[in-house]
Amino acid sequence: MNTFERAVKVWGKAPQMLQVIEEMSELTKEILKNINRQKDNIDEIIEETADVEIMLEQLKICYNIADRVAEYKKEKLKKIDRRLDEWENKK
Ligand SMILES: [Mg+2]
Repeated sequence: MNTFERAVKVWGKAPQMLQVIEEMSELTKEILKNINRQKDNIDEIIEETADVEIMLEQLKICYNIADRVAEYKKEKLKKIDRRLDEWENKK
């Protein structure tokens, strides 16, 4: 059992899913400070990005959706690549 699975097992689904929301809002706050107030907060952005990634791993375990997310992500990236090709060709 890895650390993400342990966290979900020991602390439970609902608390961990609330923690996802909390960490996403902390990252949101740091991005807004950086962009809107030109704050030099790269350390905080690094921390909160890691926190969100850690919680997203747990979210995928909670809902047992890791494979479907990976599959969707692969297709989505292809779509984004096609859109980028179009944009670049417009120039
Ligand atoms: Mg945090």
